[in-house]
Amino acid sequence: MTRRPPDPATKTGRAQIARQARRHGYSHNREEFEIGVTCPLCQEKVRGPENRYGQTVIQALDELMNDHLLRYCPKGPQQ
Ligand SMILES: [Zn+2]
Repeated sequence: MTRRPPDPATKTGRAQIARQARRHGYSHNREEFEIGVTCPLCQEKVRGPENRYGQTVIQALDELMNDHLLRYCPKGPQQ
């Protein structure tokens, strides 16, 4: 059985990629209220604000990655 890499064009795929990204470690700068994680597809360091709207840091990281994949990632579904 071959494991296919997660597809950034699907919501499920993006959630898997976001989990993958977190597993490799993330940063949380409490003084600047900033979180950061490395995109496993393009290796870019993605940064954003921590827990907007009362999210947990994990939720904020996953949303940040989702946003990156949809709009900015050179290996995302739009490109
Ligand atoms: Zn990327």
